[in-house]
Amino acid sequence: MRILPVSLVALTLAACGGAGGGTATVPAEAVAAIDTATIMGHIRALADDSMQGRAPGGIGEERAVAYIENQFKAIGLTPGNPDGSYIQNVPLVAITADPRMTLDLKGKMRASLKYRDDFVAWTRHVDSEVSIKDAPLVFVGYGVEAPEYNWDDYKGLDVSGKILVMLVNDPQLPDTNAFRGKAMTYYGRWTYKYEQGMKHRAAGVLIVHEAALAGYPWAVVQGMGGEKFDLAAADSNRARAKMEAWIHFDRAKALFAAAGLDFDSLKARATTREFTPVPLDVTASVSIKNSIRSVASRNVAGKLEGSDPALKDEYVVYTAHWDHFGLGTPVGGDSIYNGALDNASGTAALLDLAKAFKAMPAAPKRSILFLAVTAEEQGLLGSQHYSVSPLYPLAKTLANINIDGLNTEGPTKDLVVVGMGASELEDYARDAAAEQGRILKADPEPEKGFYYRSDHFNFAKQGVPAFYADAGTEVIGQPADFAMKQREKYTNEDYHKPTDEIKPEWNLAGAVQDLVLYLTIGYRVAQAATYPEWRPGNEFRAAREAQLRP
Ligand SMILES: [Zn+2]
Repeated sequence: MRILPVSLVALTLAACGGAGGGTATVPAEAVAAIDTATIMGHIRALADDSMQGRAPGGIGEERAVAYIENQFKAIGLTPGNPDGSYIQNVPLVAITADPRMTLDLKGKMRASLKYRDDFVAWTRHVDSEVSIKDAPLVFVGYGVEAPEYNWDDYKGLDVSGKILVMLVNDPQLPDTNAFRGKAMTYYGRWTYKYEQGMKHRAAGVLIVHEAALAGYPWAVVQGMGGEKFDLAAADSNRARAKMEAWIHFDRAKALFAAAGLDFDSLKARATTREFTPVPLDVTASVSIKNSIRSVASRNVAGKLEGSDPALKDEYVVYTAHWDHFGLGTPVGGDSIYNGALDNASGTAALLDLAKAFKAMPAAPKRSILFLAVTAEEQGLLGSQHYSVSPLYPLAKTLANINIDGLNTEGPTKDLVVVGMGASELEDYARDAAAEQGRILKADPEPEKGFYYRSDHFNFAKQGVPAFYADAGTEVIGQPADFAMKQREKYTNEDYHKPTDEIKPEWNLAGAVQDLVLYLTIGYRVAQAATYPEWRPGNEFRAAREAQLRP
């Protein structure tokens, strides 16, 4: 179904309005090029069993990368890599920790914790074995240093060589200005906790798993063992803490109790600025044996060169990850993790957006890069690699628009902006939504920290304003709670499972609506007189200012 006539009229209206986000009229040919059949065709191809779940480094990669590259060529994009190819190599390393490990505690608590039941651990050191001997455990609260909130959990204590026991998420303070209240800040993400371990040259980090605060059950943590991918860093990741781990809540409570400490009062103390680190009078030893393999993976990049000689070396970058989990633990006899929604749909969106831009009578002033990244499921690695080794200068990259999952429930009255309030890209989105008779809404689950869980985050971390949205919560013609129920159903039944497959009831007319909006944002940024900025006070603004400083 095509919903365009209304929006086409609305788009023309835009030429005379538009609050903050540029006012260029999107060529009708481009809008007309976005359709459900094209999107569904790409999803069908990328989510087919023959793609074997599109794992990095496998046959699925060969087929998915070939498909995307061929589509870029068929659409007429030029090679996205200045070396004349459509490929950016992403050297990865895959490390599998031998699960026959124990975490041996001595001192106030003597115990040999069991892997998977009591703790899950791995190392990112590219070494066949790492070991820690009798490292003292110290509780560092949330392990956060946030100068903007006048927060420092370390108070200058040297914790190098120690094992840091940390709480997950960020402090939930009554003063909602700090740590953005219920919404999870990056300080709450487990990736940040392990980065703190590296920063403080700790021997290891043990995060206490509280299901409510983590946002997922212990079973998900148990799944974090096994093979782990990483970018093949020059230092073989030896700057990182040797052990990165989670400890089961009950074990953590027992540990604190053995040290004569009550978990709840300790946690209450940790949720204050006055908190100081607490030695637990327990030491830990562990030996992690690894099998290691190198994986040569790829990002796929296609470019539409800008039409303005003065601006064509400036870029708008659309991203979507093409990878998924490949073959894995069978569910109902099915071991192919097809990743139809996650993220064959987003990759399909990237291809259809490319077709739309190519359908324009004239290319936009600035260049558009379409970047299908690898290894998102393994830790946002393809986009991390791009962000530290960009094909085009990030200082000349005006915006990133990331698509991870499309709306399959039908047209909506709204669009959910993840990380609402972050940047001026929202103004572009608000204008484009208004032209469709829609409104923007904030993420209904801010506590889950979705802004930090997909590829735009790596662009944001480097300072590039990055936009990421999710399907609207008000589906036209459906009960008010329909969308959230569908979202919950997907999270419980299909998220990262073999059953994430194309469903007969899918309705992609809502996806077309969203793609027209993404098209409008990217096009107007590419035509705009000024660079979009992060809002004052945003956590990424400083990085951008430094990036743009001459
Ligand atoms: Zn995804």
